[in-house]
Amino acid sequence: MTDIFKLIAEHQFGEIYFKNCQKTGMQAIIAIHNTKLGPALGGLRFVHYDNSEKAILDAVRLGQGMSFKAAMANLPLGGGKAVIIKPKQPFSREDYMLSFGSFVNTLNGRYITALDSGTELSDMDIIATRTQYLASRSDYYGDPSPSTVDGVMEGIKAACKVKFNLEHLNGLTMAIQGLGHVGESLAKILTKAGVKLYIADINEQKTQYLAQTLQQTAVAPEKIHTLECDVFIPCALGSIINADSINELRCQVIAGAANNQLIDISMAYALHDKNILYVPDYIINAGGLIYAAGRYLKTTDNEIEKQIHDIYSRVIDISLRSINENIPPSVIVDQIAKQKIME
Ligand code: NAD
Repeated sequence: MTDIFKLIAEHQFGEIYFKNCQKTGMQAIIAIHNTKLGPALGGLRFVHYDNSEKAILDAVRLGQGMSFKAAMANLPLGGGKAVIIKPKQPFSREDYMLSFGSFVNTLNGRYITALDSGTELSDMDIIATRTQYLASRSDYYGDPSPSTVDGVMEGIKAACKVKFNLEHLNGLTMAIQGLGHVGESLAKILTKAGVKLYIADINEQKTQYLAQTLQQTAVAPEKIHTLECDVFIPCALGSIINADSINELRCQVIAGAANNQLIDISMAYALHDKNILYVPDYIINAGGLIYAAGRYLKTTDNEIEKQIHDIYSRVIDISLRSINENIPPSVIVDQIAKQKIME
């Protein structure tokens, strides 16, 4: 059994709340990493876990990432994450969401929930009947994915400006891993921009269909990260850069939406040594958070758009600093984010 306080301390954590609803059987965790800059905003995951320890670890790791992401996007927010453990036995989804909504409400706005893996806008609508502390809803707050896509495009353009000194993407070769909400849209936009694409998803039918529609090349999912290309765009899983994959990479830039792409910080140094420009995940994928935060905080659409566009200059600054100071970009942004949220 994990020593919970050791885990909290390792992630410089604030608070973890647990709810075991006697009536519905719902078991949830809300992990609030840091509230120095404002209330902790972070999505609700509703996925299977082998055990509650893994669920806690997920909430803690992701909550920390949200603090860093909000701080680097200059938002007046802290970071947190919530998890409902999806049971193997039958359950009432509505009752679970109602119970979770009441749980969120007990924290009086210290935690603001939102969409994440395994949750839908319809879940958020149910949660909204129990609490006002949420940043996703079907009638107004909508899906943050298009904003994530816009932000990732800014990051890709900025990385290509630094690495190849190009103002446009036309003629470059890129490989997209994962063709979900983010990856599919990126494939369409990049095709229009004249990029030669390799695309892969574990859903083979979807990959083939998209490849045919866009006149691009479908690749097996286990091969996509090994292809020679200008930019590798991870939009599927975490920990994709690890001791095994690092030696197989043949790209010059990594710039994608997936959270926690590096299995640990040693990979930041390994990428730097290989002269691969890595755009830190929580900088490039902040568009969705910026959008959700903007809706919650009632920021104007123009300001939201500007904040997403700012990802371009942030990636340029960090990449140039990395080159000039010979330090991996992830190490630089971790230092800046920690300074911003330190008590
Ligand atoms: P999604 O669930 O819609 O899509 C993920 C896709 O990856 C799915 O199509 C899935 O089949 C595919 N996939 C899973 N394992 C794979 C593998 N081994 N190889 C290839 N494909 C695989 O998720 P999304 O909303 O598109 O987000 C993509 C990533 O970006 C996720 O890691 C997510 O956490 C992160 N992210 C998303 C947002 C957002 O606004 N959607 C914001 C920030 C970060």
